[in-house]
Order: sequence, then structure tokens, then C-alpha cells
Amino acid sequence: MEIAIIGAGVVGLSTALSIQESFPELKLTLYADKFNEKTLSSGAGGFFRPEIGVHHNADLVRKWCKDSFSHFLSILGSPEASAAGMQLVSGYHLSSSVSLQNNLLQELVPEYRQLNKKELQLFPDHFKNGIFFTSIVTDCRYYLPWMKSKFENAGGTVVEKYISNICEIPKQFNIIINCAGLAAKQLVHDDKLIPIRGQTIKVKAPWIKNFYYGDEIYIIPGVDYVTLGGIKDYGSWNTNVRPDQKKYIYDKCIELVPSLKEAEFVSDWVGLRPYRTSVRVDASFVICNGSYRLIVNNYGHGAHGVTLSWGTAQEVTKILKKLLKTKDFAIAKL
Ligand SMILES: Cc1cc2nc3c(=O)[nH]c(=O)nc-3n(C[C@H](O)[C@H](O)[C@H](O)COP(=O)(O)OP(=O)(O)OC[C@H]3O[C@@H](n4cnc5c(N)ncnc54)[C@H](O)[C@@H]3O)c2cc1C
Repeated sequence: MEIAIIGAGVVGLSTALSIQESFPELKLTLYADKFNEKTLSSGAGGFFRPEIGVHHNADLVRKWCKDSFSHFLSILGSPEASAAGMQLVSGYHLSSSVSLQNNLLQELVPEYRQLNKKELQLFPDHFKNGIFFTSIVTDCRYYLPWMKSKFENAGGTVVEKYISNICEIPKQFNIIINCAGLAAKQLVHDDKLIPIRGQTIKVKAPWIKNFYYGDEIYIIPGVDYVTLGGIKDYGSWNTNVRPDQKKYIYDKCIELVPSLKEAEFVSDWVGLRPYRTSVRVDASFVICNGSYRLIVNNYGHGAHGVTLSWGTAQEVTKILKKLLKTKDFAIAKL
């Protein structure tokens, strides 16, 4: 039995590891044209912030977030935490208008409370509401290479290759796992998948130990750098840095945390989030030269790929378990 996985972002690598842990006897090959810092995942803030609306089934979302969070906690509690780029970070989420309440977040994280008036006075006057909580930041500049080594050390094969058509995957592979992120739009012709363009600035500011969300901008401390973001341009394929947005992010972040004026600029970054109204995790078929190929999809995580990564990887593993047991798989082989 051989399985091919397409994608070496946070979703593909998590899926590869989850399958490998459950089925050590399967031969797994991971294909990708981009690895580590060349992926979208590598530039993400890496913040664990669940949103119930990412899929039409709220119970599934709750389960995925719980699975991810407990997986991250288990890494955090191990000697591997620093190699994996994981840390517990506390901080503030502030809003100028709406009152903030995230029940799922409150359910999961160790510390969550509304800010009182005195605490709100620490921030610019226009912030009327806020919460304080503790969550996990996963720096994918560390997490991706850590997962890739883990996969290879346990016998997984990694192939650097661009797959222009899913039927290119050699026939020896019984099942293809599609974790291609935004590129799934072409690979499996999914019109529901669209980009949400984001732009960030990485700075060196080692004194920033907390995270801050202020309306639409954020400040997230990673291992070496602090990420200042983030723009959400729905439907934009523009991968160029927009100087007007860079100025907007800087101005807003410095207004929120004035000491950022002293931060050393490291780099600009633009990334296209793979957005779908509902994250896609399911099994389907494609026809290649007249015969069926079985695919398990895992893409469309939008702004929550790191948050959902282990949860949806576990879901794929569950689907795989069922497929390997049932006659669906036999039909696929005909
Ligand atoms: C500014 C910004 C900030 C973000 N912050 C956060 C955050 O704080 N928390 C959070 O949870 N999420 C965050 N996200 C979202 C997160 O980055 C994405 O949801 C996540 O990276 C998606 O991961 P992925 O593995 O699906 O895709 P990708 O990282 O894009 O990986 C796709 C992989 O598939 C491979 N691939 C694709 N097509 C092919 C092909 N045809 N042939 C071979 N290989 C192929 C690529 O080479 C790559 O390895 C942020 C996103 C942005 C833009």
C-alpha cells in the first residue's frame, strides 16, 4: 500500500506525520515544489486563534481545534518545544467597536478574561473592548523543518517536484492526499477556493513578549522576529508589497505599542491565504486515463491553517482508516 501526499506546508506535513503515526506500515511519499521558507505557511503569524465559522459543521471545528491545541500542548510539554518553534504567549485582543467574545477560544486556552477599565486605559482611547488570554504561537520557520525531519527520520520519502496534473502521480500510489493549499484550485478544479491576500512586516524587537490584536492589525512575537500584520484583501492575487499598506501596518502597530518605533526592520512579506467558506476535508475521485484515482482532500484553511493543522490532519487519518477498511477502497482500485 502506497500513499502520496501533495504539499509541504503546515497542512501537508501535519497530515503526513499523522498518517505515519497511525499507519507505520504504509509507504508514504510527500511531493511538493516548495518547502520551508518558500511556503505560505512559513510566513504566517502562527497564532492559535480558533474561529467556529471556518466550516459548516461547528462540532467538527470544535474537535479539530481541540485536537490541534492538545497536540501543540503535548509538544510544548516536551524537550522538542524549542526545536519545533512553539511557545505559550499571553496578550491582548482589543476592539474599537464590537464587544469581544470567542467561546471556543475560552473553552480551550488556559487563561481568558475580559479586560477591565483600568487595563483598557493602557491602550489608545478608541479601544472600547478587549480580552486578555494565553495561547500558543507556532513559528513555522522552525515547525516545518522540524516536522519534515521527523517524517523523513521515520521512513517517509520527500520528493521535490511540481505536479501540473494530479494524474501525474504514479499509478503505484493507491491513494493521493491533496494538501496543496491555494494550488488545489487548479489541481482539483475548485472554484470555491479564493485567495485572501495578507501583508506583514518582520522586525527584531526582542522586548516584545506579549501578542496584541487591535481591530484588524496584530503584533505576534515569534522565535527570532516579531510579525506585524495583517491585511485581508479578498480575491486579490497581488503578491507585491504595497507601500501604502506597509505604512498603515507600521502606523497602527506603533500606535498600539509605541516601543515598536525602536524595532529593527527585517523584511516585508506577502502571502495568499487559501480561503473557502468551508475548509475541505473529504474523499473524492478523479478520472485519469479512464480509471478512477482516490483522493483525500485537506485544503482551504484560510487564515487558520496553523490553528487547524493537526485537527484536520487527524480527520484525514480517520477518513483513511475508514477507506482502508471498507469496500469503497476496493471500488477505487477497479
Ligand atoms: C499574513 C498571514 C498571516 C497568517 N497568520 C496565521 C496565524 O497566525 N495562525 C494561523 O492559524 N494561520 C495563519 N495564516 C494562515 C496560514 O498561513 C494558512 O492557512 C496555511 O499556511 C495554509 O497551509 P497549507 O499547508 O494549506 O498551504 P501552503 O503553506 O501554501 O502549502 C502548500 C504546499 O503545497 C505544495 N504544492 C501546491 N501545489 C503544488 C503542485 N502543483 N505541485 C507540487 N506541490 C504543490 C506547495 O509547494 C506547498 O508545499 C496566515 C496567513 C497569512 C497570509
